[in-house]
Amino acid sequence: MPYFVDVILPLPLDKRFTYEVSSEEASFLTPGMRLAVPFGKSKIYTGIAAKIHQIPPEVYEAKPIHQILDKVPLITPNQLKFWAWISSYYMCTEGDVLRAALPGAFLLESEGVIQLKNKEALQNDDGLTDDEFVLLEALQRQSSLKIQEVMKVLDKKTVLPVINKLLEKDLVVLNQEIYEQYKPKRTRYIKLSENFSEEAAMHELLDSLSRAPSQREIMLTYFSLTAKSRKPIKQKSLLKKSKASPGTIKSLIDKGILEEFYEQTDRVSFSGETTSKEIIFSEFQQKAFSEIKELFTENKVGLLHGITSSGKTEIYIELIKEVLNAGKQALYLLPEIALTTQLIQRLQHYFGEKVLIYHSKYSVNERVEVYRKILEDAGSGQVVIGARSSIFLPFKNLGLVVVDEEHESSFKQYDPAPRYHARDAAVVLASFFKANILLGSATPSLESYFNAQHHKYGLVELNRRYGDVLLPEIEIVDIKTKHKKKQMTGHFSDRLLEEIKSTLKEEEQVILFQNRRGFSPILECNTCGHSPQCPNCDVSLTYHSHNNQLRCHYCGYHIAMQQKCMACQSTEITTKGFGTEQIETELKALFPKHKIGRMDQDTTRGKYAFDKIISAFENQEIDILVGTQMVTKGLDFRHVNLVGIMNADNLLNFPDFRAHERSFQLMLQVAGRAGRTKKRGKVLIQSYNPNHQIIQQVSTGDYEAMYKEQLEERYNYKYPPYYRIIRFTLRSRDYSTNNTAADWLAKSLTNVFAEYVLGPEFPPIARIRNEYYKNILLKIPQQQSLEKTKTLTNRILSSFKSIGTFRSVRVVVNVDPI
Ligand code: ADP
Ligand code: ZN
Ligand code: ZN
Repeated sequence: MPYFVDVILPLPLDKRFTYEVSSEEASFLTPGMRLAVPFGKSKIYTGIAAKIHQIPPEVYEAKPIHQILDKVPLITPNQLKFWAWISSYYMCTEGDVLRAALPGAFLLESEGVIQLKNKEALQNDDGLTDDEFVLLEALQRQSSLKIQEVMKVLDKKTVLPVINKLLEKDLVVLNQEIYEQYKPKRTRYIKLSENFSEEAAMHELLDSLSRAPSQREIMLTYFSLTAKSRKPIKQKSLLKKSKASPGTIKSLIDKGILEEFYEQTDRVSFSGETTSKEIIFSEFQQKAFSEIKELFTENKVGLLHGITSSGKTEIYIELIKEVLNAGKQALYLLPEIALTTQLIQRLQHYFGEKVLIYHSKYSVNERVEVYRKILEDAGSGQVVIGARSSIFLPFKNLGLVVVDEEHESSFKQYDPAPRYHARDAAVVLASFFKANILLGSATPSLESYFNAQHHKYGLVELNRRYGDVLLPEIEIVDIKTKHKKKQMTGHFSDRLLEEIKSTLKEEEQVILFQNRRGFSPILECNTCGHSPQCPNCDVSLTYHSHNNQLRCHYCGYHIAMQQKCMACQSTEITTKGFGTEQIETELKALFPKHKIGRMDQDTTRGKYAFDKIISAFENQEIDILVGTQMVTKGLDFRHVNLVGIMNADNLLNFPDFRAHERSFQLMLQVAGRAGRTKKRGKVLIQSYNPNHQIIQQVSTGDYEAMYKEQLEERYNYKYPPYYRIIRFTLRSRDYSTNNTAADWLAKSLTNVFAEYVLGPEFPPIARIRNEYYKNILLKIPQQQSLEKTKTLTNRILSSFKSIGTFRSVRVVVNVDPI
């Protein structure tokens, strides 16, 4: 009897595809191995063997596979099980999951393009097979080859193993990404020579310098700067503070009073030093820690609600330590943006080389390396710190998952499928391993807190800052009145300016939060009201001053800044609203002597751009940092004493049922950046609506009040956590077909689910990149079976697909959209 293998292909197919294998192949094959298989007329893909059996497919004749690509499975049984769960829960194909789950380099396919890693690849041809040599030679002539072309070059069909070998030998690269060159930055530090470290020697030294006033001045500055920390300081800071010349410092070095040395800064790489120092918990941390352990003995998901700077990270570290000592693996999940050098170094400090980092700014090769390390782990204990896609790693003995900043919406993948929520999926993943899982946040999502209130999760509260530092004092500034009384300078109220000035005077730092990037979102004609629109999307173009352009944030379309109105030729055009770039410009004019930094999507594109800004701010090379949401993400800066929220209103007015919850979370998180060490920090919130309940709740840090009030609204308007939501988005370049299709789908769903179907409706932005959008919402009450709902929905969706006239319409299904 012949043998068959069901294969998961990296394509949006509803089912696995069955191929024929020989009996030798069948006895060698284990689920989770990669196979090269033909698909369609002439294409070849890498698929994953999911099941080996003897039942021939019914509707088609099984083709033979080309080749088995692995000696041992690359995918574990738990991963296969997890993929199946994701695909069923989030209503997508296993192929979609496969694409999200594996680094691209594992998935050779005939459409792929390979290139030489470097030109010298051929200089050392030791150990190359003939095929490998021929291929490398061809690549030297042609620079890049499609895998289909490789078949011609080698004159055979089974080329994937050859390419695989070359990838492993690091001689070629697949689907080349742009690798950013990064030069580590060296910083010059100054320290006092050992000879003068005694109090008496210090006084003697100062006396001896009485006739060299500028040198004496430098030493006095040095002592005042290092009085608290007694640590070396940067030459730059010393120069700046003492206003001395580098020459004077040099003379002090020559005299043997000061010493200079270099250190490499802002690197992710591990310096090799770990600490054996024990963490000594505060009384409150200790209590929380014990409560968490208690929950774990009951196999409960933990929710740690700990205010900003309460020392949650230390608790995570202690939990991870125990898991690693038991030789198990730990996963520390963070939103992409919060994965900073800062946090990575904090973990490396404790766990050294056991820390593995996995996120999208890492190159394909780096990701492949981490993947293999985890797969091959022999029980020495590892901690993966990663963004959402790290839930797809091949864990073998996962013992603990920590989801830090669990309220963050970026844990949900928006596009493409699978549209999974990494926090929720991680709960399922942990259950597969019987691993413990802890969700942590200063501002938990309504969903998680609801689960805790209903005893599905266990709740642990930590409401003291570490070191008993007070939470910052929050002041609300009514900018409507300030405008009336002419107490505004640009977008700054007199209060905010006063506070910035006094903070800078104390040599402390300021963070200013503005929800939008760019200069001023839109340009408007005072005469006719026209504002320039994107031709491809239903949005106004945004003004960017640094390159004097109008840009679309959705499709990248841009034109030069206009001098006249495009509609009526009037020159009376003004900018409306404001973004980070404009704040930065205003600040530069207001505080010309201070260094202003900006952190938003435009300034953090490269792999290290984000880390560079953070380390500059950390090293006090930036006095005022202006930024979007990015500045709110779990950063721990020592010298920030003032946080200003430029305008709370545009957060609150967002047309979304989560807008209020989100505003609360954002504002409280950004407020939490202030005064994290000794002194109490200050937060100023500028708003036209100072009495808004959310602003009031933020000012008193009253999470409970926010929770209760929002929950009531969710109940009244039938939203999560009381109702689950599935959103269907129909997209097409044809406006009227899209509308007809949406009507059809809404009607079919209504026949089954009656009043729980909403729409079709145009979303706020109804056209993007020339595609029209329409949404339908399906609400699922708690008592209704989710499984059954999905089965019925899938049935309707497959009838939809069989309608010829709707072929141009794509339906995007989003389960638990956020
Ligand atoms: P959170 O993650 O809750 O915002 P962090 O873990 O960043 O708070 O802690 C805030 C600050 O307090 C950090 O600088 C951290 O190093 C320090 N800290 C917290 N717990 C301890 C401890 N037990 N011993 C020493 N320092 C601690
Ligand atoms: Zn006009
Ligand atoms: Zn556009």
